[in-house]
Amino acid sequence: MKTLVWVEHDNQSVKDATLSTVTAAAKLGDVHLLVAGKGVSGVAEAAAKIEGVGKVHVADDAAYEHFLAENVAPLIVQLMGDHDAVLFPATTTGKNVAPRVAAALDVMQISDILSVEGADTFTRPIYAGNAIATVQTSDKKLVLTVRGTAFDKAATTGGSGTVEAVAAAGDTGLSTFAGAEIAASERPELTSAKIIVSGGRALGSSEQFHALIDPLADKLGAAVGASRAAVDAGYAPNDYQVGQTGKIVAPMVYVAVGISGAIQHLAGMKDSKTIVAINKDEDAPIFQVADIGLVGDLFTLVPELTEKL
Ligand SMILES: Cc1cc2nc3c(=O)[nH]c(=O)nc-3n(C[C@H](O)[C@H](O)[C@H](O)COP(=O)(O)OP(=O)(O)OC[C@H]3O[C@@H](n4cnc5c(N)ncnc54)[C@H](O)[C@@H]3O)c2cc1C
Repeated sequence: MKTLVWVEHDNQSVKDATLSTVTAAAKLGDVHLLVAGKGVSGVAEAAAKIEGVGKVHVADDAAYEHFLAENVAPLIVQLMGDHDAVLFPATTTGKNVAPRVAAALDVMQISDILSVEGADTFTRPIYAGNAIATVQTSDKKLVLTVRGTAFDKAATTGGSGTVEAVAAAGDTGLSTFAGAEIAASERPELTSAKIIVSGGRALGSSEQFHALIDPLADKLGAAVGASRAAVDAGYAPNDYQVGQTGKIVAPMVYVAVGISGAIQHLAGMKDSKTIVAINKDEDAPIFQVADIGLVGDLFTLVPELTEKL
């Protein structure tokens, strides 16, 4: 089977989410990549070095600079004449482009796959990860989005893919890029961080959230996350949200501070290798998934922990 992986990048470098998608694609067959962007020769070169990559298709055109689904999808559809499956990381941008490709190919999209069971069979989470469905498709072309935490990352070296330019499908004129507000942070990116410290509603205010969570995260070299309740209350920005409707993470260590452990939050972090929970309620559901639990008042425990570190 010939697979095509849409490479997530920022016109400068390949994003980590691409690497797990390559691992998933390699389980199906030959791996070809698509780098669509503007001024992306560096990205294409780096992509060609990813382990197991056979070919890198490069579409370098202003129409792809901002990865608008309306422009990228026709390009992928054009390439699907010669590929059997297209795989996207299940990230915001991947999930924006994939359905348009599936609709244009008149096939069903299989979302958020956790494993490849065969050439046409995959597992995926349903009911916020409380059940795993095995899905078999009879479609001739596959459109898949891949959950990054479910597959190991392919090595960024060792590959010797050939780089081939593809003709741009051009600007469809269906959408235009208006602007982006990108939060700049010195901290590791949430979905690729090895350690995450997340705060919940119990922090009580944005000031307290940052006064307690940030120093602990700094000590640990961690990314900062939050529950939806903390985000909705304005204690933390939207892009911090971990969970069913936020980011899916699986770091080595996840520290949940004042988070109850609602299933929608667990859906985003329960695959973390070690879970540490700090909560004053010993019956809080978070303790059912925690490897280490500290029962007590976070306003005392967190500063104490930060100081001891
Ligand atoms: C469709 C849908 C999607 C959702 N998606 C998400 C999602 O993506 N992510 C997400 O997080 N939620 C999501 N939710 C919301 C989810 O159901 C919970 O409401 C939310 O996770 C609760 O956040 P919390 O744990 O911070 O707050 P709470 O549930 O209010 O928990 C606060 C915890 O802090 C503890 N606490 C209070 N004071 C202290 C103290 N001084 N010291 C120590 N501990 C203390 C309490 O004992 C409690 O356990 C979703 C809900 C729905 C319906």
